[in-house]
Amino acid sequence: MDFLKGRLDGFTGPEQKLGPLVRLFRANFRPYARRYAFAVVMMVIAALATAASAYIIREIINKIFIQKNEGLVFTIAGVIVLIYLVKGFATYFSSVTLTKIGNSMVARLQRQLYDAVLKQDISFFQRHALGDIVVRISQNAAAARSAIDLIVMSLGRDLFTLISLVAVMVVQNPLMSLLSLVIAPVAIYGITHLLGKVRTAARKEVVTLAQIITIVQESVQGIRVVKSFGLEDRLRRSFEAATINVEQLSNRIATLSARSSPLMETLGGFAIAFVVMFGGYQIVHYNADPGAFFSFITALLLAYEPAKRLARFNLDLEKSLVGVRMMYEVLDLVPVLQSAPDAVEARFDSATVTLDRVDFAYGEAPVLRGLSLTAPENSVVALVGPSGAGKSTVFSLVERFYDPTGGAVLINGTDIRRFTVDSLRRHVALVTQDTFLFDGTVAANIADGRPGASRAEIEAAARDANAYDFIMAMPDGFESRVGEGGGNLSGGQRQRIAIARAILRQAPILLLDEATSALDAQAERDIQEALGRLMQGRTTFVIAHRLATVRDADIIYVMDKGEVVQKGTHEELMAEGGLYAHLRALQFREGGEGG
Ligand code: ADP
Repeated sequence: MDFLKGRLDGFTGPEQKLGPLVRLFRANFRPYARRYAFAVVMMVIAALATAASAYIIREIINKIFIQKNEGLVFTIAGVIVLIYLVKGFATYFSSVTLTKIGNSMVARLQRQLYDAVLKQDISFFQRHALGDIVVRISQNAAAARSAIDLIVMSLGRDLFTLISLVAVMVVQNPLMSLLSLVIAPVAIYGITHLLGKVRTAARKEVVTLAQIITIVQESVQGIRVVKSFGLEDRLRRSFEAATINVEQLSNRIATLSARSSPLMETLGGFAIAFVVMFGGYQIVHYNADPGAFFSFITALLLAYEPAKRLARFNLDLEKSLVGVRMMYEVLDLVPVLQSAPDAVEARFDSATVTLDRVDFAYGEAPVLRGLSLTAPENSVVALVGPSGAGKSTVFSLVERFYDPTGGAVLINGTDIRRFTVDSLRRHVALVTQDTFLFDGTVAANIADGRPGASRAEIEAAARDANAYDFIMAMPDGFESRVGEGGGNLSGGQRQRIAIARAILRQAPILLLDEATSALDAQAERDIQEALGRLMQGRTTFVIAHRLATVRDADIIYVMDKGEVVQKGTHEELMAEGGLYAHLRALQFREGGEGG
């Protein structure tokens, strides 16, 4: 959430205000221009009908009530029905059109935001809480819609209505119109004053809302930890604090916004009182036209609502613009890690992977220092070392989730930064401890390994992964659902599906993070066997936790504090003593073979 801070109380000048708005219109107005035009025409018709309804009052008063012209009663009544009919239908069409445009725009913007988020580097997801991302995708698109709606409605409906009503007022009584419009500047000054305060509060509210979502998400994902450590109270307290915060900010925004009402109502009261006094005076003393007077009063009363909304226009727009700005912050984020302009497609069937004097740091503290290691074609290289040594970091660098700060990662002698990111990652398969499956069918999860794989290939991969039998024993076989995060399956089953997914990928490089949690002997054997098949004909890096794995590895690199401290086979390293022999005593579990 750090990219929100610092901007909270920042001053927003006119150029910063118009910037996002102009952009929003440029990007989202054109596709809907014709429909907008239709909606605006409808709103103009409705505005004219409103003006006509004020105008006709003069005829009603003068022709019917004063001249008592019976013949005109039906005509005028007919015209009145017609005016309201037109107004009703025009309003209907404009609001339906606007709503549909709005819905389609929200959907479009949400897709763009989701794309922008997916495109980000791994580091983005470590920097930003899920809640923050969720709020941006769900709420900011809606804010963009309301900004555009507000502008179209204000200009189309309110401004036109106001203009046509003022026209009626001017026609009926020019002098009085001029005098009653003097009030406008007072209203505008008062409203502008409220603006700054609302802006600050609105932005804070969005941030706090994101905190609420983050707390909920962490509680749900970590529910086992929460329950077994009895963290409910602590979480409840942070949640409570966040909700109280949102409540107070919402109240503040509401209070500030509502403050425009007493201001506007009082001014409106003064305006009407003035008109009654002045108009009454004209009629009593100068025998002015009473129809014109009532028509004027009607127009004034009708003008009140749109004028009030227009006065609040800036205030409401400011609230939506907070969301629009936050939306563009996401859309404008450029991932640091991108394919070089002259990058080439990676194309290789077998790979020699070399880390050449690699330096790396996530932040300030160096994590890898001058690390060099090589995995020859079709070899199995085991990385061992105490936790925090940098083993997972090596994986991240081979996948190019990050770039080294010094040195290079080479595949068959080519710096991986020369390859396009996508093509590089197509050549790498990852099997981690915490196997993540997506809610969907077993078949779909395996097929994620290689989009477009045939059913026969999927089943073959499942067989190689020793997963076929248990899959077929499930109620719907390959069409069974795995549940959210693979919740319907046991840990060992999830791993075998993840192995099948990796087998299907047919990638020449395999990154394998062995599970630390022990499974029962049979499951352990099934998985070892599946992994054995998976490793065949690939260059494998394995973060090893099992004795069997290090014994079978072609080369073992012993890492400590970001450096390679020992290198060799199991026998060589055991003979050598040092960290490896020490770790052997502490770290390696006996594998399923019981040896
Ligand atoms: P290993 O896999 O050997 O346990 P890692 O590669 O995960 O070690 O971590 C090496 C060091 O880098 C550790 O000190 C760890 O705290 C740090 N580290 C790992 N991931 C990150 C990250 N995303 N941001 C900051 N530091 C990290």
